Amino acid sequence: MSQQTREHYMLEAIKAAKEAELEGGVAIGAIIVEESTGKVIAHGGSTANHTNDPTAHAEVNCIREAAQKLKTNNLQDFTIYTTLESCHMCLSAAAWARIPRIFFGAYHKDVDSSLIDVKGKFLDEEEAKRMNLRDDTSMVAKGGILEKECLQLLASYNKQHKTKS
Ligand SMILES: [Zn+2]
Repeated sequence: MSQQTREHYMLEAIKAAKEAELEGGVAIGAIIVEESTGKVIAHGGSTANHTNDPTAHAEVNCIREAAQKLKTNNLQDFTIYTTLESCHMCLSAAAWARIPRIFFGAYHKDVDSSLIDVKGKFLDEEEAKRMNLRDDTSMVAKGGILEKECLQLLASYNKQHKTKS
């Protein structure tokens, strides 16, 4: 898959992040793409804050939507695009859904730490290699897709948020 295609899909995830922010969530977005057709099957943002559901991260919301839409737990033909490096929970959720690929924009380490409640060093690109999918292959995670744009989403979200409170 070309870098251009990845950026095209990341723009969709950025759109989902902006929608999430407008709805009162954090500016983090994700989409799930079907590899064989190139179709976007699910898109969504983080709704953890305003729905009082701490597990409602963008990736988890998308995984739920895709699995329910397709009536399956097996999403092995799918790829996640997310604006921010996934947390432990989302990386695991993807593994449980057998999703073999995650492309992300911004790296956790570059985000203002006041935005992230769970501390600790966790690198998706390394951790994914340890996540065994059921057919004995590892997951692949790769960051830096439209990295600046994805980081900017959170920088402006944080600035606004801090001014308000
Ligand atoms: Zn997460």
